Amino acid sequence: MRQNLLCLFLLISFICNAADYQDNRLFLEVNLASGSGIKLKTLSNCQISVTEQDDLMSRIFTGSIQISLLNPESLSYYGIIEQQKVVEDNEEHPEAITRSFFSWVKQELIIKKELLYFSSSSFSTRIDAENYATLNNIPYSKIAEMPLINSTVRIINSENETFYMETPLKIHSTSDVFINGSSLPYSGSFVLKTVKGKLILNQYLELEEYLSGVVPNEIGNNSPFEALKAQAVAARTHAITLLVNNRHKADGFDLCNDTHCQVYKGKYLQNLLIRKAIDETSAEIILTDNYIADATYHSSCGGKTDASSAIWKGKPVSHLNGVTCIVDADSIDLSSEAGARYWINAKSIFTNMNSWERGALYWEKKISSKDVAKNIGLNYINRIEILERSRSGRIVSIRFSGNKQVLLDNEYKIRQAFNSVLSSFFFIEGTYEDVDGAVVVKPRQVISLKGKGAGHGVGMCQIGAIRMARAGATCLEILQHYYPGTQIVKDWKDE
Ligand SMILES: [Zn+2]
Ligand SMILES: [Zn+2]
Repeated sequence: MRQNLLCLFLLISFICNAADYQDNRLFLEVNLASGSGIKLKTLSNCQISVTEQDDLMSRIFTGSIQISLLNPESLSYYGIIEQQKVVEDNEEHPEAITRSFFSWVKQELIIKKELLYFSSSSFSTRIDAENYATLNNIPYSKIAEMPLINSTVRIINSENETFYMETPLKIHSTSDVFINGSSLPYSGSFVLKTVKGKLILNQYLELEEYLSGVVPNEIGNNSPFEALKAQAVAARTHAITLLVNNRHKADGFDLCNDTHCQVYKGKYLQNLLIRKAIDETSAEIILTDNYIADATYHSSCGGKTDASSAIWKGKPVSHLNGVTCIVDADSIDLSSEAGARYWINAKSIFTNMNSWERGALYWEKKISSKDVAKNIGLNYINRIEILERSRSGRIVSIRFSGNKQVLLDNEYKIRQAFNSVLSSFFFIEGTYEDVDGAVVVKPRQVISLKGKGAGHGVGMCQIGAIRMARAGATCLEILQHYYPGTQIVKDWKDE
């Protein structure tokens, strides 16, 4: 019986991710968990309400619940797209599968909807769909995995009783909910969906509330107020950039909660000062030439911030060409080996430094040359050539020689090669030779590194922002220092 129900529900469609504006506030779905089963736990005697879409059925559970998919292996379906169109209305389109996506039009963030109309046939494998397409002269480009379907889930409560409900489910709890055994509390509204044969649990919340779960993880909850405000504006701008890029359009949510988007940890670490920093900068974002600015940021530049074009090899970006962060570094050419070594060895002392700042301002790391070889897929290495440093001193091109040669020209990969060091702004201790502009090092058995900085070095330097705030700079001064030539505006919403 359940099996039949599942088929009946197959073609009932709904909005895949449900970002929307309400009273001029932007609401989003942020993914918190996915898998074939999801466990929600409240503190004893607190309640979770679970409601089917359209309020067909609603239940209240007390304590914990375990939700699992029935027959996850049979939840992947392929269909033939008959028609595809984009609309901007608020109508319901019951015959189509609707995916919302974002676009930036005339200084506004617009939510559009993509309607996918599938033919009535569906197939459990792609091969079946291709066979059908071949027989009926349908190009393979029309075959698509049906982005979202309803399915039956089994819910087991803390008394071991079993219930069945149909996704998507609206879940609500005013008290703390812990997901899959994690100790991080969340509360409010959630959505549980079946996407690509998996359950996904999203938190449904306003952009500003999302930020209060992002800012403290990104800059620490004890940072000075003007630095928190600058981080709030940068994180808000970055979130909107991520939305405009539509990276999760097909995933059933708007943003993930990991470093791929921005780290979001709900109520963990939130405090009054962070709320106040977000409220005081409410709706403020950074624009450049009327377009949403790339407000990328990192922990610590080490002296100068870097150019995005040097680190990510793209076109130069006018507000991301690099600025001086520590005045004493200004006159030093950090792109030269001698300048980089001198500056890394120079002691920079600032008052009120916490351990995070001290750790990012100067660090040392030892790693065996065997491990470096292994990290880059060699049997051994007997020569390292530093081919290029960027303006912040970061190594952006390095060649290793051993049983063969490996060239790395990406700061992130270079950090990984040396067991994920904090930044690629480091030097290898010992003597070096300058051969045609390349710094040549003969690696010892144990390679000793000395370095400064943490992260990629592009955009706002968080530790620099903290230092500026301590010295009396305002949020606006901090943002204009790290993103020169940009404008801070409040008016970017689709009304
Ligand atoms: Zn993401
Ligand atoms: Zn800095």
